Amino acid sequence: MRDGEQTPGVSLTPKDKLEIARKLDELGVDAIEAGFAAATEGEFEAVKLIAREGLKAEIFSFARANKKDIDAVVDSDADAVFLVVPSSEIHIRHKLGKKHEDILELAEDCIQYAKDHGLKVEFGAEDATRSEEQFLKELIRVSVNAGADTVTPCDTVGVLTPEKAYAFYSDLAKSFPGVAFGVHCHDDFGMAVANSIAALRAGAKEVHTTINGIGERAGNAALEEVVVALELLYGVKVPLKMNLLYETSVLVSKLTGVPVQPNKAIVGENAFAHESGIHTHAILNNPMTYEPIPPNLVGRTRRLVVGKHAGSKGIKAVLNEMGIFPNEEQLKEIFAKVKMLGDKGKKVTDSDLVSIAEAVMNLPRCRPLKLQELTVVTGNRVTPTASVKLKVRGKVISAAATGVGPVDAAINAIRNAVQTIEPIKLDGYYVKSISGGTDAIVEVVVHLSKGDITTTAWGAHEDIVMASVEAMLNGINNILSRGNANISPLQENLPDKLV
Ligand code: MN
Repeated sequence: MRDGEQTPGVSLTPKDKLEIARKLDELGVDAIEAGFAAATEGEFEAVKLIAREGLKAEIFSFARANKKDIDAVVDSDADAVFLVVPSSEIHIRHKLGKKHEDILELAEDCIQYAKDHGLKVEFGAEDATRSEEQFLKELIRVSVNAGADTVTPCDTVGVLTPEKAYAFYSDLAKSFPGVAFGVHCHDDFGMAVANSIAALRAGAKEVHTTINGIGERAGNAALEEVVVALELLYGVKVPLKMNLLYETSVLVSKLTGVPVQPNKAIVGENAFAHESGIHTHAILNNPMTYEPIPPNLVGRTRRLVVGKHAGSKGIKAVLNEMGIFPNEEQLKEIFAKVKMLGDKGKKVTDSDLVSIAEAVMNLPRCRPLKLQELTVVTGNRVTPTASVKLKVRGKVISAAATGVGPVDAAINAIRNAVQTIEPIKLDGYYVKSISGGTDAIVEVVVHLSKGDITTTAWGAHEDIVMASVEAMLNGINNILSRGNANISPLQENLPDKLV
């Protein structure tokens, strides 16, 4: 939460940081770098809040090599300090304007000072991977003699390769037997995860990561990628609650406002989504065919996407999951219509599929929840307010709510209404694409859950409020129909047809 928060444009409040720290602790990490205590009052507050929370993880604060920074760490009640001193020629000369001897002295003094004040010390050599070897080793020797508990030579600008990382850490292990080294990799060349793992293989004892790989520039090694690779590709038993990886990712993305790219490993929206007919067919026979990571291991669920690449088996599986059971003939026709829509360049959502199935199978509309009325009022002198009237399985429910804006108010009103029948949670909300012009189509994606059932739903509309409402209703409908999969959709909807 120090390097990760150095992501451009990100700024977390102490309360946000505490929420993330609690989640990281629940996930089971050994150490949390809570912030940079000397940076601002808020940062100090955050480190202190987290340090006093009584978490199992060790709480670190970042500090530069000066007494003022270290004093702030001591006052914050953190257990440990990540004390960083530049070690490369370019950083020493152009950042600090100091000489090599000054750096050695500074490191020694500051480590001793921190130790004298009861802190555990992790010593970080900044830009270590571009440092002159003899000087870096001298600096490590001085820091170990001064009492550093761990030494982390940082790949500050991400210039290691897996081969170099392995050689670099093997050499350090040989030169400093008994010293615990950490690894801190940046992702400028997209190799942070591979480099971190190579360093661990060469004997590093600790790995620095961030959730979703956030951080300065191209970010840091992503925690979820490092641990899943260790567990599944290297056979290392990682003592984390892996099934919390996804919700941790969602929380960090929500609080930092940094979206996760859809094709991101482990936590990306599409990481466990399948559309291609051939893939879907094989997966339904045996998941191992195209799913190297079992989705439930990391707290995900498989998502079969209906689109022009989908096959009839995949479409059938999606429909069955919703409690809709077409016969062979009907399935063929549904399949053809989905392909046609896809070829027109339209995104086929779950609710489009249901509408097609309803038409083909001549079903009464089998979406349990329908919007009857929505009113939203907004402006600069009124509190954004929404009222909504929904029909759920023939019963009309209404609710109203306020919000920070029209979208928030509308979604709150729907949540209030639905809360009276089902405890459905909104886990994520993303505005996916706004392309050109104020009248362009807006796409909204929501993640909803009810206990173990999770769903992702889309809404698309020229009006962002309507797109959001559509996404919410689609998601709630997905959950309601899944929760009642044992009830025949026909029986379920009979009253609706009679009305
Ligand atoms: Mn860094």
